[in-house]
Formats: sequence, structure tokens, C-alpha cells
Amino acid sequence: MAYRCFFCGKEIKDESIKKKVRCIYCGSKILFKDRSVTTKVKAR
Ligand SMILES: [Zn+2]
Repeated sequence: MAYRCFFCGKEIKDESIKKKVRCIYCGSKILFKDRSVTTKVKAR
């Protein structure tokens, strides 16, 4: 599972934030789960 930074929008891998939950790029502590990586709708 990956997270995405609220500020810079970069993707942070889950392994990168084992203990410190913060963006490794800009230092932001606001991350959200990047569940919808592919927002494309599948039209069966
Ligand atoms: Zn960031």
C-alpha cells in the first residue's frame, strides 16, 4: 500500500514510513492512503 503526500502529491511507499509518518520529500505529516491509484473505470 502506498501513501500520497497532501502537499507535494508524491507517492510514499509504505516501507518508507515505518515509524515516522511523514513525507520523505517535503517533510509534511499529512498523508493519505493512495487507494485509487488507477481512477480509470473499467467498462467490462
Ligand atoms: Zn510531500
